[in-house]
Amino acid sequence: MNEDLINCEKCRRLKDFRDHVLIDKENKTGERYWRKPVPGFGDPNGRLMVLGLAPAATGANRTGRIFTGDKSSEFLVSCLYEAGFCNHPYSISREDGLKYYNCYINAAVRCVPPDNIPTKEEIANCLPYLKFELSMLKNLKAVLALGRIAFESVIMAMDARSSPAKGKFSHGSSVMISGIRVFCSYHPSPRNVNTGRMTRGSFMKILFDIRKYIDQSTQ
Ligand code: SF4
Repeated sequence: MNEDLINCEKCRRLKDFRDHVLIDKENKTGERYWRKPVPGFGDPNGRLMVLGLAPAATGANRTGRIFTGDKSSEFLVSCLYEAGFCNHPYSISREDGLKYYNCYINAAVRCVPPDNIPTKEEIANCLPYLKFELSMLKNLKAVLALGRIAFESVIMAMDARSSPAKGKFSHGSSVMISGIRVFCSYHPSPRNVNTGRMTRGSFMKILFDIRKYIDQSTQ
């Protein structure tokens, strides 16, 4: 699947954007940017999937690994480390030795969108990749949806559009969808973190709730 994904050009707008975003910066620094769709990463036997919105221009679109090399990754990975889901508290490049335990990470949309806002059509275009990954994660017990778009993508990917879960997104809530408990959090973007809309304490509580849930559900 990842070979197909990396070569995907289904969304013309996103293909054009990922090819050109921050090109001046790239030329200036001499660093070669990834500029392709970004595959998921982590433990394929994991019981938790963490689902973000999309690669960040300076993060995964640059480094080629999801939640790597930007401010959102810094926050997310240090929290996942504290909750025991990875081997160190930073994610800066594909060569940094990061390993996830019991946890697989990806995004609802695999190409960086302008202003971090994908269209409905682009979200729908990317859905088959999420569906495939959900079907491959045989031990999956929980999903952590980071933001409303990630949450609604999980609902669509699980073909649960008529589920009462639809429209139930709120920070810290969780719903059961097709046998998987879906936990909701705001996205750990610098805007949400710096404005205090999302605190480390509230996010850690969600992660510890998830930890407890997946530990209990395998006993
Ligand atoms: S967003 Fe998804 S469907 Fe669209 S071009 Fe990128 S990988 Fe393909």
